[in-house]
Amino acid sequence: MHDPKVDWCYRTEPDPGLNGRQLDWPRGKVLGGSSSLNGLLYVRGQPEDYDRWRQMGSPGWGWDDVLPLFKRSEKQERGADEYHGDDGPLCVSNMRLQRPICDAWIAAAQTMGYPFNPDYNGATQEGVGHFQLTADRGRRCSSAVAFLNPARARPNLTVLTHAQTEKVLIEDGRATGVRYRDISGALKTVSARAEVILSAGAIGSPQILMCSGVGEAAQLRSHGIEVQKDLFGVGKNLQDHLQARLVFKCKEPTLNDEVRSLYGKARIALKYALFRAGPMTMAASLATGFVRTGDHVATPDIQFHIQPWSADSPGTGVHPFSAFTVSVCQLRPESRGEIRLAAPDIGVYPKIHPNYLATQTDCRTLVDGVNIARRIARTAPLAGKIAQAFRPSDDLAMDDYDGTLNWARDNSTSIYHPVGTCKMGSGADAVVDARLRVHGINGLRVADCSIMPEIVSGNTNAPAIMIGEKASDLVLEDRRSGPTRKTPVSRKMTSRPLDNAKEQAVEDDH
Ligand SMILES: Cc1cc2nc3c(=O)[nH]c(=O)nc-3n(C[C@H](O)[C@H](O)[C@H](O)COP(=O)(O)OP(=O)(O)OC[C@H]3O[C@@H](n4cnc5c(N)ncnc54)[C@H](O)[C@@H]3O)c2cc1C
Repeated sequence: MHDPKVDWCYRTEPDPGLNGRQLDWPRGKVLGGSSSLNGLLYVRGQPEDYDRWRQMGSPGWGWDDVLPLFKRSEKQERGADEYHGDDGPLCVSNMRLQRPICDAWIAAAQTMGYPFNPDYNGATQEGVGHFQLTADRGRRCSSAVAFLNPARARPNLTVLTHAQTEKVLIEDGRATGVRYRDISGALKTVSARAEVILSAGAIGSPQILMCSGVGEAAQLRSHGIEVQKDLFGVGKNLQDHLQARLVFKCKEPTLNDEVRSLYGKARIALKYALFRAGPMTMAASLATGFVRTGDHVATPDIQFHIQPWSADSPGTGVHPFSAFTVSVCQLRPESRGEIRLAAPDIGVYPKIHPNYLATQTDCRTLVDGVNIARRIARTAPLAGKIAQAFRPSDDLAMDDYDGTLNWARDNSTSIYHPVGTCKMGSGADAVVDARLRVHGINGLRVADCSIMPEIVSGNTNAPAIMIGEKASDLVLEDRRSGPTRKTPVSRKMTSRPLDNAKEQAVEDDH
């Protein structure tokens, strides 16, 4: 994170729900996208999430439809069962690290009545336990490692790196290719023989669509973009998980102490190099909990991420004292934000308006979640290990709703799950249909987190990969059932330097 070589380093606009604060929104700028710099946590969400997608107008996306796709991609260390697969390309493994403070958190939560759940991706999500990771014996298994590397030698695959797509080329309502800028700054064109599939993520995909003339007509015209298709929903319906990070000072050492000295860092590195063990195998968090804030909800509406370290914000270096973090996030926020173009140019970052904490339910749920976290911290055996509540301090009364909400507005940050900006469905704000085809444009699909009509109740990487699995089925089905659209114009890749000098044609097959 925060390295512009591999992170787009987006930043949100000042957000009213966060008392005007702006947040960093890291996104992977590397093969594998954000799965190459994410926290490795393997979480699918709740069956009800997908059943809601289906009911909102997306047949084929209910839990019974998508569970086989999750299983198909999975190589589960614990073996196959009703909920898991063990011969897919995506390695899913147990945590190779334990820390007493995280185990004490799980035990205290159990004392409070939250059940232990050995598999939150299994029969039920509810309960507390340890995370599983998209990792293979301590090594990251990004989507590039799992899916792209094994396919690299295929003759019908060309991977262009350091290439930024500027727009989808659209002729007579049909996508005919893309224009991109290569590392030298030259503008080039790739023609599509069958179709174009955008997978640029919840920020990139709507931005490319809008730069291509697909989006809300008034917004496009205000930037001088010729409208190819007036699609109101492009960039709308933005959802994210907001996390309130509570920090507790500890009476015993935590990871903060382990990484503070050069000797400690060397020990960690050596342990990893020799045994592929220790903190370098760790995901962003060790323990988790999916809980309901009350009987008014049927399934968990809060997720906890428990980290045996603490920092002012993730990626900025740990605190100089022993402490751990309890991150609280509301699983299904009602608030909706928006991505808007800042300029008709892909090189200018769009404006990101997350619109966090904009509804009463979102505020109430987050405050309730923070209070549950504070109660768990006051429960044995965790309470005995805590020296002091650091953030928020105990000066903030638990029954002070406004104070707690204001603390959350001042301190919360993204957990990096933006979704929903090319919404799937059939309503007026839908961008793609249930086969991921952009409404009103032939030969163009979107396949990434942007298509989620509603954010899932959990981390978004496993669902993004499931969307990829589904997309591959849809593409193959449509090809097998015969071309529904005109076959393409050409099999050529053309290259046009920026100074508009003569065009050069290159043989290719896409
Ligand atoms: C720091 C961080 C931690 C996270 N932790 C977790 C976690 O622990 N568990 C979890 O489940 N999820 C986690 N997530 C979220 C998860 O990784 C993402 O939801 C998921 O990877 C999104 O997949 P995607 O395909 O929608 O988009 P991305 O993975 O973001 O992929 C989009 C790709 O498109 C490329 N792109 C964008 N614009 C253009 C353009 N114009 N031209 C060419 N290429 C372009 C990008 O470079 C990128 O490679 C985390 C995310 C981040 C950033």
